[in-house]
Amino acid sequence: MKLYCCLCGRPMDRAAVLIGAHPVGPKCARRAGLMPLVHRKSGLVFAASGHKSAVRQDAQTLDLFEGAV
Ligand SMILES: [Zn+2]
Repeated sequence: MKLYCCLCGRPMDRAAVLIGAHPVGPKCARRAGLMPLVHRKSGLVFAASGHKSAVRQDAQTLDLFEGAV
């Protein structure tokens, strides 16, 4: 499965982070300052490792946030 960085559109072997469902390569993530955001629980930026379960959990969390706001 080919991944394409959602910031620069280049193909990459693996994403470093995800913005929502969009993968971002390590270079772009660092350049865009996304790496510090990975460690925040709130927000749309996730670490891409083991992202399948993480995305589902975060999607539920986002629903909760949307309902709360
Ligand atoms: Zn990129």
